[in-house]
Amino acid sequence: MTRKFNFSAGPAGLPDAVLAQAQEELLDWHGKGLSIMEMSHRSKEFVSVAETAEQDLRELMGIGDNYKVLFLQGGATTQFSMIPMNLLRGKSSADYINTGIWSKKAIKEAARYCEVNVAGSSEANGFTAVPSQDELKLNPEAAYLHYTPNETIGGLEFDYIPQSDVPLVADLSSTILSRPLDVDKFGLIYAGAQKNIGPAGLTVVIVREDLLGGVIENAPTMFDYKVHAEADSMLNTPPTFGWYLAGLVFKWLKDQGGVEAMAAMNQRKAEKLYAAIDGSDFYGNPMALNNRSWMNVPFTLADDALDKVFLEKAEEVGLLNLKGHRSVGGMRASIYNAVPEAAVDALIDFMQTFEKEHA
Ligand code: PMP
Repeated sequence: MTRKFNFSAGPAGLPDAVLAQAQEELLDWHGKGLSIMEMSHRSKEFVSVAETAEQDLRELMGIGDNYKVLFLQGGATTQFSMIPMNLLRGKSSADYINTGIWSKKAIKEAARYCEVNVAGSSEANGFTAVPSQDELKLNPEAAYLHYTPNETIGGLEFDYIPQSDVPLVADLSSTILSRPLDVDKFGLIYAGAQKNIGPAGLTVVIVREDLLGGVIENAPTMFDYKVHAEADSMLNTPPTFGWYLAGLVFKWLKDQGGVEAMAAMNQRKAEKLYAAIDGSDFYGNPMALNNRSWMNVPFTLADDALDKVFLEKAEEVGLLNLKGHRSVGGMRASIYNAVPEAAVDALIDFMQTFEKEHA
């Protein structure tokens, strides 16, 4: 068996050590004679796995006691609706910053519930730079301000945390746990698990307690954060296996030295990959230098007729899933926490060899 280097944007690669542990525990979890997947979510064994995972995430991110951590289903996409449903709290409008495809989807969904004020947009620069704090046109009456710190498809990342007098909401799907973050600045953080947390099917929501309890009338019970918080995310059967695996990833992160160590490694990985792109006329990335994503690095080849052969040759040498998103084309290397530095080194070597052979 050879594990190849996986640059998938999501579901993304998981740490080898985590998969090996899951494999070892699969048939017989801790001598109980059954797998974690086959246990009641209300058993004391699973409840302890769930609580430990939450505790480890709280430690890793420095989440205060005034926040609830929810382990939900429905993906980040469900949060696009749950956020306005819960956080409007009688107000009629919300501020959104539009930096790309994921922000736009969040805006479209919110517009079903309220008036959306696009407080800032990257549209004019072709989504290559984020609007600065000074450029934001914030509405003091907004219920909250939503933004996407990292646009997974565009590879566009905020280099600052927007400031506003209203609660700040962030879609951290593709950047959570990649570096330290001051959680206290946020009213709500959400992330689909399938990039930096674990397998698809789990969504993590971190919400400040004072924002709970204001869901719109007639909302389905499953869409009310307060109900989930009161039930410790066990209103119904939670995604138990995803929750367990997330817990293994959190332990692995702690063993690696936590988010500080991840940040140092992720910065090194991104910097060397961008340096390789910038150091050649053959490859390109159009993003403003201070808004280049550490997690998703899109790049183009000077001649897109070579895209297909680039991908084929990359796959031959064990570099998988480098195809850019269907909406933008080109290439994209997603280099989340579980992608080792050796993978980035191998990619850079391959890119340089490919350039010599095809330039
Ligand atoms: N937001 C961002 C930033 C994403 O990258 C994604 C998934 N790629 C989503 C939202 C949607 O997530 P899900 O598929 O979990 O609904």
